[in-house]
Amino acid sequence: MRRALFPGSFDPFHNGHLEVVERASKLFDEVVVAAMRNPQKAGPLFSLEERMDLVRLAVDGMQNVSVVALASLVVDLAREVEANVIVRGLRAVSDFEIELQMAQMNRELSGIDTLFVPTSSEYSYLSSKLIREVAAYGGNVSSLVPKAVDVALRERGRPS
Ligand code: ADP
Repeated sequence: MRRALFPGSFDPFHNGHLEVVERASKLFDEVVVAAMRNPQKAGPLFSLEERMDLVRLAVDGMQNVSVVALASLVVDLAREVEANVIVRGLRAVSDFEIELQMAQMNRELSGIDTLFVPTSSEYSYLSSKLIREVAAYGGNVSSLVPKAVDVALRERGRPS
């Protein structure tokens, strides 16, 4: 059984993330998407429960994908869910340096390897931060995020 763990903040989950999950789900028997309890970025827009629900709605219909919370080290969760590989998306060279460092650290800590999925150029400029910013000022992000995320962002409204 080949099981991959895809960790991230997913605040919110967008089409770049979805593409990584879709591609990983074809490469592995199972994919576990893990939403970080405490993203480093202060004050997430969506709570952990909301982020997990939005990921679940987005991956609905993908039989071999599940969603969990990440409250520990990624490598500890990987061991817990018996994942053989950590999956991360790569947008541009700018992602590479930090991702390589994390991959090497995780391998040192646990022996678990990281597989990088290069994003398609269609989504390579997407980040959760940018989506939050555009949506906060009423920009239309409907082509960049799953339907449920678009609805949730609209409900969240503009900052006062
Ligand atoms: P961000 O807040 O930067 O969008 P996350 O912490 O939620 O990102 O990222 C989780 C994973 O998703 C990381 O491996 C990140 O490189 C990847 N990722 C983020 N945006 C994209 C994208 N547009 N295409 C592919 N992978 C992405």
